[in-house]
Amino acid sequence: MAVPVETEKLVGDIRAIKEALGKELLILTHHYQRKEIIDLGDFRGDSFGLSQKAAENSQVRFIVFCGVHFMAESAAILAQPHQTVQIPDYEAGCWMADMADSHDVEKAWEEIASISGDSTVVPLVYMNSDAYLKAFCGRHGGTVCTSSNADQAMRWGFSIGQKILFFPDQHLGRNVGNQMGLKPEEMIVWDPKKPSGGNGPEDIARARLILWDGYCLVHTRFEVEHILQMREKFPEAKIVVHPECTQEVVALSDACGSTSFIVNYVKNAPPGATIIIGTEINLIHRLALVNRDKTVLELHRSLCPNMFRINLKNLLWTLENIGQVNVVTVPDAVKADALIALNQMLKLPSNTG
Ligand code: SF4
Repeated sequence: MAVPVETEKLVGDIRAIKEALGKELLILTHHYQRKEIIDLGDFRGDSFGLSQKAAENSQVRFIVFCGVHFMAESAAILAQPHQTVQIPDYEAGCWMADMADSHDVEKAWEEIASISGDSTVVPLVYMNSDAYLKAFCGRHGGTVCTSSNADQAMRWGFSIGQKILFFPDQHLGRNVGNQMGLKPEEMIVWDPKKPSGGNGPEDIARARLILWDGYCLVHTRFEVEHILQMREKFPEAKIVVHPECTQEVVALSDACGSTSFIVNYVKNAPPGATIIIGTEINLIHRLALVNRDKTVLELHRSLCPNMFRINLKNLLWTLENIGQVNVVTVPDAVKADALIALNQMLKLPSNTG
């Protein structure tokens, strides 16, 4: 298919600026970005891999983050003082991250502490959260995790405390809790709109894992029905899903893991295999393109409109105004506390493979 003239021009202009800036510029692209953006990046990865890249490349001056805001914010926390981090569209947020705000989390923390007595509660925040929540974890002896290392983070949390407060994604927390063998009654959901999160004192006292009532609208769109239909149509296929899916969907799948896990799962499948994937559609389309010896199918079409806000036009505009527009910053005091939690995360082993 011929590339439209406008696209060709935008790509040419972006490449020219990249060449002019050379080693001063680092473009990071998340796996859920559209293909033309991925093709222009220096590194692509999941939020864990990209935060490692941001931390490692201390020699670059400009980091342009093609992903959503919390990811760029994490890069800004890890960046050196001489570096700027920019995002091509400042409105590229994350619905899940918006489901936990620091005021509600502080309130829940106090309530849980007043009920749980001597038990040590460790806060564990998913990367998909704002800098204030990461800072909260840094202040209270917790850490950050991604879907690549949530199990290691949880093991670490239970090695230093009796309970974990996990936010904002209840599904990732529950799926990891299941994998670690926690019983359903040891995991409770905390709804910040209800007194005591909607739980009785004895539920809180018994709980080992307290799950914030947040979720990803992109990954909870996958339903058991989709799996049953695809199994009937493609009985020989393997189904792999992301851990932000519900536990019912995960239970019926052949495998479940982070974005990087899914990428490697497809790569390592034998030629001729059929793999059905439950995650963001742009990643599935790209995996189908680069694994032409396999059949890669979507479990159901689910696109993240936040990730999709990044396009060639706003990437070019950002590069034309390098170091000046859509600069993502974090107040120094927040940055210092958030850094404690992020550095703790970077010490955890990852499953990115
Ligand atoms: S896929 Fe879900 S969790 Fe990821 S950025 Fe989009 S809304 Fe947020």
